[in-house]
Amino acid sequence: MATARPRAGSKGRTAAKGAAPAVPPLSEGEVDELYRRLAAARPDPRSELSFTDPYTLLVAVVLSAQATDASVNRATRPLFAEAATPAAMVALGEERVRQAIRTIGLFNTKAKNVIALSRALIARHDGVVPREREALQALPGVGRKSANVVLNVAFGEPTIAVDTHVFRVANRTGLAPGATPEAVEAGLLARTPQRWLHNAHHWLILHGRYICLARRPRCPDCVIRDVCHYPVKTQGADLAAPAAGSV
Ligand code: SF4
Repeated sequence: MATARPRAGSKGRTAAKGAAPAVPPLSEGEVDELYRRLAAARPDPRSELSFTDPYTLLVAVVLSAQATDASVNRATRPLFAEAATPAAMVALGEERVRQAIRTIGLFNTKAKNVIALSRALIARHDGVVPREREALQALPGVGRKSANVVLNVAFGEPTIAVDTHVFRVANRTGLAPGATPEAVEAGLLARTPQRWLHNAHHWLILHGRYICLARRPRCPDCVIRDVCHYPVKTQGADLAAPAAGSV
């Protein structure tokens, strides 16, 4: 999750495919209405990663690159039972971490990063996850997107992490069209009304994960279908057989 570019559908295809075709941007009123509807549908949106504090969230986010939240949760449940602090993780050691997370993608690199970032937290921050973006992004395996998730979920900062789902929804709807994650993030921050900023990240991810699917968006079931500018919305008959791996 930290360094990968947004991908459409499962975390395995390019954002560009998920984003096409380009659509005109929503008006200010439409943007507000889009969030109002998403908020009504999910009044209390939460991360689907399991964590107990900023450190376990940070580790879970680092592990979630090109892996589903469910697969990360299955790996972290026993891992965090053994090691839920930077010191305990370093004591556990890279090989034990590798074994614990071997069911998720890129586990060799991720095991190295979990140990390295735990060491860095101890050396630079007294074992405490920093609240500053620059300090977070200086940790091994932590990119802008991961830092945004930690800042938003752990510390309540109004950041918006642009993953594959957010990228797709922002482009399809016309909420914040952009060719890169950075452009979409800037557009979302500029266009999202203050009152929606804190939860925007969750609403957009969950909408992309469960409704605005990469291969076959569920437009007939979508609460923002009359606001969305996507020009090729699906009809009911298109939804008979959702593609495997489309969420
Ligand atoms: S109407 Fe369709 S394309 Fe638009 S946000 Fe909803 S599911 Fe996505």
